[in-house]
Amino acid sequence: MYQETAEKLLSFIKKSPTAFQAVEEMRQRFLRQDFQELKEEEHWEIAPGRSYFVTRNSSAIIAFTIPQKPVYKFHIIASHSDSPAFKIKENPEISVENAYVKLNVEKYGGMLLAPWFDRPLSVAGRMIVRENGKLKEKLVSIDRDLLLIPSLAIHMNREVNEGYKYNVQNDLLPLYGGYEAGGSFMGLLAKEADVREDDILGHDLFLYCRTPGTIWGAQGEFISSPRLDDLQCAFSSMEGFLRAGRKESIAVHCVLDNEEVGSTTKQGAASTFLKDTLKRINAALGRTFEEYLMTLAGSFMVSADNAHALHPNYTSKTDPVNRPLLNKGVVIKYNANQKYCTDGVSAAVFKDICAQAEIPYQTFVNRSDMAGGSTLGNISNTQAAINTVDIGLPQLAMHSSYETAGVKDTEDLIKAAQVVFR
Ligand code: ZN
Repeated sequence: MYQETAEKLLSFIKKSPTAFQAVEEMRQRFLRQDFQELKEEEHWEIAPGRSYFVTRNSSAIIAFTIPQKPVYKFHIIASHSDSPAFKIKENPEISVENAYVKLNVEKYGGMLLAPWFDRPLSVAGRMIVRENGKLKEKLVSIDRDLLLIPSLAIHMNREVNEGYKYNVQNDLLPLYGGYEAGGSFMGLLAKEADVREDDILGHDLFLYCRTPGTIWGAQGEFISSPRLDDLQCAFSSMEGFLRAGRKESIAVHCVLDNEEVGSTTKQGAASTFLKDTLKRINAALGRTFEEYLMTLAGSFMVSADNAHALHPNYTSKTDPVNRPLLNKGVVIKYNANQKYCTDGVSAAVFKDICAQAEIPYQTFVNRSDMAGGSTLGNISNTQAAINTVDIGLPQLAMHSSYETAGVKDTEDLIKAAQVVFR
């Protein structure tokens, strides 16, 4: 079962080069399952026993199911749709000495820069175009090897392996074509989107890594792919949500954008998107504001974002006792300073969920001399305060352009998600 799930995960990630395509993939999946799409700008009618979803900015999505008999509790799993990447700047082409055309890009999020060199890349995202006098959004993804960031040869910097400080503006601009390619980049995107170049009025376009995902290792125990953080959790949440069947709470699958840049956007965890959606569900069920607050107090959220596994070459970087391993189950993440919002209560609830799902769990805490990362749970809690646990799947090389995880763990999180949503 877990191999089939791992293959499905790779296929989902391949179709999701940016947050826009990831959300569109989920949107299409929900439509095929008879979910009704709600629009934020329209009135919501919702009924018991039905399933719905709503998107914001085309890069965040919240799907939910109302139980047949009224149970007023939200059971939420929140993950994120974005990954660190390079964003294409305005007026992207730069010509180099009548020899090359390269693209002007800037960094989106904090990533390992070295893994972006010397591998095929392409471009994807969304464009805003004028069509019949109206502005319209079009998703684009150039599905071929189009760009590459070449390294400087060792002969031209003999000291590079002693450590090198990358400068994004100087070192990481991708090569697009020979001199003759000048002036063609936006035209290429226009052709892909079937619009006139002049009609492209705005864009949010990113480089993405073309290296295909793979299952590998002595016994096929590892899975590597771009964007495992956090599409592995988003995918597991979606699968668990769809598999959960009859639900005895208001099940909420929530995938937010911009986690990699601090979540403070209209579609990020610091926004009102989740809170607005929960309030509207409450109102559409004919409930008062006080009843909304009562519902929140009895609700539970799982903030699902990948975790660091023990690294084979850097074992000393992991806490001496809490050492997550690949293929050993879902990781509960703790931090005394509440960068992870797990506390004694939410940890206990989640351990009980794992027991019901019959899956293993592990624990992660940073070494006490390392700051570590953060995620969306505590940020989301400032908008909608819900008892929350931070969890994730163990992985290596987080924020590389090509990350590695355990082949079995996705299936475990799906099983846990089924229990959360049931
Ligand atoms: Zn993440």
